Amino acid sequence: MTTTFDVINPATEQVVETVRPTSAEETDEAIARAHAALPAWRAVPPGERAGLLRAFGDAVRADREHLAALEVANSGHTIGNARWEAGNVADVLHYYAAAPERLFGRQIPVPGGVDITFAEPLGVVGVIVPWNFPMPIAGWGFAPALAAGNTVLLKPAELTPLTALRLAELARDAGLPGDVFQVLPGKGSVVGQRFVANPAVRKIVFTGSTEVGRQIMAGCAPQVKRVTLELGGKNANIVFADADLERAAASAPYGVFDNAGQDCCARSRILVQRSVFDRFLELLEPAVRGVVVGDPADERTEMGPLISAAHRASVAAYVPDDAPVAFRGSTPSGPGFWFPPTVLLPASAADRTVVEEIFGPVVTVQAFEDEADAVRMANDTDYGLSGSIWTRDVGRALRVARAVEAGNLSVNSHSSVRYWTPFGGVKQSGLGRELGPDALAAFTETKNVFLATED
Ligand code: NAP
Ligand code: MG
Repeated sequence: MTTTFDVINPATEQVVETVRPTSAEETDEAIARAHAALPAWRAVPPGERAGLLRAFGDAVRADREHLAALEVANSGHTIGNARWEAGNVADVLHYYAAAPERLFGRQIPVPGGVDITFAEPLGVVGVIVPWNFPMPIAGWGFAPALAAGNTVLLKPAELTPLTALRLAELARDAGLPGDVFQVLPGKGSVVGQRFVANPAVRKIVFTGSTEVGRQIMAGCAPQVKRVTLELGGKNANIVFADADLERAAASAPYGVFDNAGQDCCARSRILVQRSVFDRFLELLEPAVRGVVVGDPADERTEMGPLISAAHRASVAAYVPDDAPVAFRGSTPSGPGFWFPPTVLLPASAADRTVVEEIFGPVVTVQAFEDEADAVRMANDTDYGLSGSIWTRDVGRALRVARAVEAGNLSVNSHSSVRYWTPFGGVKQSGLGRELGPDALAAFTETKNVFLATED
């Protein structure tokens, strides 16, 4: 029994398209086809596999405006962000297209013979993607997985399947065999569950909530199935008194409200040194009120709507009528799942707005005394994904960057993602790293072969 699913434009609440979700039986059939496609795919000569990935990347780049428009309609992303996201898929495909020809093993000196290692594909890889960044997160999984000779099944989030379905068409047009890269829209509890349970899938790449990530890890344990997890975050933006306060305050809203705060790297806890706390808030207020919230298709828009009515209700629950609101931005009236940029001054570090990932445009601001206090507060969380440090003191910047327990720190910047560099979390923000030069290691097993040369 499969009912269809209406994809809703979150800025207009209109139906964009109707998608038929994949059933459990169809998922198992797709897994079987992906498994059958393995021997031929891993036998494709490295230069040819590289060429296919470059052609796929070129097709994505050529389709960038179309993909971006789909993401604006499906996810309410600003057109500027959506263009970057489509471009990132093309960049990541090109970056890992260089890998098949460079998947070196090693020759290790041993007595009595020759020892060599091979980087072999794992097999069928299942990539499970959340709704907040449908294109980039998919690409960070499938590009290195395909480059290393694996076949890939991609499950987009139920709410945001449209760009993933388009990427499957582009892959086919570029010449990738259909069973090597398959996109299966549908429910996590159906399609995702089959990825975890079906033994022919040898690895899961999961991005999403910590809660579901834990279930996936537990579900993979009986088969010792490989798993990469990119989970939630509650990231600190630490502003020291010696920082360029104007820049720190002007950029802070974009560090948390980008993508309407639906970003695991959102700097959703601003920590400010007490001696400049009041001055920082004075500078932050116009910056927050200045965030342009509105029609995501408009080039000037900086923040669009939340993904769904249910998600807006979940975000709104963190800002009840008596919430300690310092100031807020604006939202359009009329249809759409809008929520204004909101700055809270929580009374206690134990407040749930400080502890829980809200995943919306809500930020807390707290004061700290000194460097040790800042590090203690930044690390007072189960998460450890990203963070920012604002200071003009280079020694302090490096000391604090080394002391904060997070996978991705930025100094005088809020950037977390560059496809050349590793991305991922510590503590309950995840397991393993994506992107950068080492991502292939997560999609290969090392095989060691010893050849005796003695008579
Ligand atoms: P989610 O509920 O964990 O879902 C993520 C994906 O997993 C979706 O495709 C979902 O399918 C699927 N899924 C749900 N239950 C499953 C199950 N039992 N077995 C297999 N798959 C299952 O997360 P979300 O609500 O989409 O996204 C928000 C969360 O993602 C936030 O906590 C955020 O921090 C995190 N996130 C982390 C990163 C990172 O890189 N660290 C990046 C982006 C987002 P359905 O759509 O059908 O539910
Ligand atoms: Mg969810």
